[in-house]
Amino acid sequence: MTAALIDGKAFAGRLRHRIGEAAARFEREAGRKAGLAVVLVGEDPASEVYVRSKARATMEAGMDSFEFKLPADTSPQKLLDTIHALNAQPNVDGILVQLPLPDHIDEDEVIEAIDPGKDVDGFNVINAGRLAVGQPGLVPCTPLGCMMLLKDRLGELDGLEAVVIGRSNIVGRPMAQLLVDANCTVTIAHSRTRELPEVVRRADIVVAAIGRPHLVQGEWIKPGATVIDVGINRIEGEGGKRRLVGDVDFDAASKVAGAITPVPGGVGPMTIACLLRNALVSAYRRENLQLAEEAL
Ligand code: NDP
Repeated sequence: MTAALIDGKAFAGRLRHRIGEAAARFEREAGRKAGLAVVLVGEDPASEVYVRSKARATMEAGMDSFEFKLPADTSPQKLLDTIHALNAQPNVDGILVQLPLPDHIDEDEVIEAIDPGKDVDGFNVINAGRLAVGQPGLVPCTPLGCMMLLKDRLGELDGLEAVVIGRSNIVGRPMAQLLVDANCTVTIAHSRTRELPEVVRRADIVVAAIGRPHLVQGEWIKPGATVIDVGINRIEGEGGKRRLVGDVDFDAASKVAGAITPVPGGVGPMTIACLLRNALVSAYRRENLQLAEEAL
């Protein structure tokens, strides 16, 4: 391996420490803890694990965690009523609805029902619009975490060629927007992109958010490029044991890249740390208290 390893786990640990300090200051100045509400509909085991770990991380950061578990057959109206109640609750600064929702519920309608000031996932059209026009809002956690890792590694990103593979609303699109805002020249690739290897080969920064194990080959990577692997794929490894891999062929790419995130231990820990960050940013804004957001 020649590439430097971008240790997202260690970076996220330091970020969570700073969030903990800022959460303690918030409690002193506001006279209450910042609060994050997580709503789970149904019993999807993976979602339950995510919700539990989010709740634990929230409390470890010194914030209040409010969990709402609703049965799988919850009516859309009941879920909307829950969100409206949380929108009105003063000690709730952030609201996260764990996705995916059961098929009978319209995800977009639910996301739009969240008060944009409490939309800590940043998926609401108001926050997506603010990001698109360069106004302060709440930025989706995964791309925000990727940007922190990139800036920590590269400093200024001015003029760099960046290729984002994937155009979802939760990762690819906001990631591309953040890279444009950081003065990169950005290409968004997707399943209809022609000559993907050629497109990737010109990139100084590659962000892979595809959901296809090891799709990005080592020989696609420009020597010295910085590779951020967002993908989380469960595959069968040796002896039938399930293991997590990213969208990039890590072993091959790490022989060519200048720096690369591992999976696990790269982007994943940053996502949850940025969720805590967004909840705290929302709390400070709602109480009109000063927070040096860029220092977090
Ligand atoms: P989506 O399925 O919503 O989007 C996948 C994107 O990849 C689409 O834009 C799709 O193109 C594109 N794509 C699919 N196949 C190809 C291909 N062969 N060549 C080029 N592009 C392709 O996924 P998400 O954005 O939600 O997530 C992407 C990955 O990131 C997943 O593995 C997910 O688990 C992971 N993830 C990780 C997080 C973390 O914290 N580390 C957080 C969120 C997601 P098209 O639009 O044309 O269909």
